[in-house]
Amino acid sequence: MAKTPQEVLKWIQDEKIKIIDLKFIDTPGIWQHCSFYYDQLDENSFTEGIPFDGSSIRGWKAINESDMCMVPDPNTATIDPFCKEPTLTMICSIKEPRTGEWYNRDPRTIAAKAAEYLRGTGIADTVYFGPEAEFFLFDDIRFGQTENSSYYFADSVEGRWNTGREEEGGNLGYKPGYKQGYFPVAPTDTAQDIRTEMLLTMAAFGVPIEKHHHEVASGGQNELGIKFDKLVNSADNLMIYKYVIKNVAKKYGKTVTFMPKPIFNDNGSGMHVHQSLWKDGQPLFAGDKYAGFSQMGLWYIGGILKHAPALLAFTNPTTNSYKRLVPGFEAPVNLAYSQGNRSASVRIPLSGGNPKAKRLEFRCPDATSNPYLAFAAMLCAGIDGIKNQIDPGEPLDVDIYDLSPEELAKIPSTPGSLEAALEALEKDHEFLTGTGVFSADFVESWIEYKLDNEVNPMRLRPHPYEFSLYYDC
Ligand code: GLN
Ligand code: MG
Ligand code: MG
Ligand code: MG
Repeated sequence: MAKTPQEVLKWIQDEKIKIIDLKFIDTPGIWQHCSFYYDQLDENSFTEGIPFDGSSIRGWKAINESDMCMVPDPNTATIDPFCKEPTLTMICSIKEPRTGEWYNRDPRTIAAKAAEYLRGTGIADTVYFGPEAEFFLFDDIRFGQTENSSYYFADSVEGRWNTGREEEGGNLGYKPGYKQGYFPVAPTDTAQDIRTEMLLTMAAFGVPIEKHHHEVASGGQNELGIKFDKLVNSADNLMIYKYVIKNVAKKYGKTVTFMPKPIFNDNGSGMHVHQSLWKDGQPLFAGDKYAGFSQMGLWYIGGILKHAPALLAFTNPTTNSYKRLVPGFEAPVNLAYSQGNRSASVRIPLSGGNPKAKRLEFRCPDATSNPYLAFAAMLCAGIDGIKNQIDPGEPLDVDIYDLSPEELAKIPSTPGSLEAALEALEKDHEFLTGTGVFSADFVESWIEYKLDNEVNPMRLRPHPYEFSLYYDC
């Protein structure tokens, strides 16, 4: 619900709130925060912001001036349920105090620019994003000691009990079978109460909620459903989603990972992203073309598919992301679109003839992405598709996993590694920077950050599986 700064300040007074917790997003996509005594916040804080030292924030180090200002968005004001004392929390965007300009490396600022850019094109006034982030709930803080640890080293999975518990020899009771987590009732599903608490806590945080369920993987994979929302709001909602899920899990002595592929040879965790464009309250993707889509919708798909290799540097931005994008686990491998077919990377879900439900689902992304950057980049790719009338080609209405190697060779595939996606981004980023949404400086710093901090350090370390392959050479 929209709130003015005055309303927030009055709320703080009325509720005798002592602590204001301000949260913002760093470049890789983790919330950072600082808490202030309530009298530090006044009306100016909502325009000029509150100063902090930005020099240690990941991805922001290139700035010469380290002083930054966090500017709280009053619409995001809510009570943080995980704090003992009454604590009002708000999500911030970042300004440079010297110039008073929004900071061009602040992901939330980039997301706001993307929404603004869309309005400026006149194509649409609103874009909706609906992310579905899957995650694993594990028993122990140390992943190596969970019931799933043996998957990591296993060569193959045959049958239902290859989970490590077999080796312990215990009664496996109601544990779901291999790929049978979707979705038997309790006692097989042991996370019902935890997920309910997660969902209701999210609602109290102001996130519009829909549902929750266990997911396909047997080792504690789950998903909660939240409603689609406008670009920046939806990214805010996703940050709240992750924060609530992790903190409720902690209360139960469990941990959560959004890593796309924590377990070898079982389903990974994706973050499918539903998206649609609207103008004057009318849905623009409904029409009389394939699958009840409009020509504009098909061009948007054309843009997503054309730029997908580069786009994945933002939507699938970790080395682990590419361990998920392999055949056989409901994750897309090929860059194609289809109605209903979940093996295509873009799906047009059945919408029951309701034009307002017409949307596309991009199935590549995962929740290691920074949602502000991922949504902004997908929107730029889609707009590029519309502006340049990019034809997405013929739909692929067969199970892509069943195609012959010759047929398959004709379909472009997702990049095989983070390094390949970063190379694609290096070559193809005009669709991002040409819009003014992403600065060339930001794209360059993103590539550098990912290479220096993730790709190269991974390459330098001996992998545990190499011991299985090579120890006895
Ligand atoms: N876990 C699958 C993925 O990696 C999706 C499964 C589903 O939601 N149907 O994308
Ligand atoms: Mg879902
Ligand atoms: Mg799912
Ligand atoms: Mg989905």
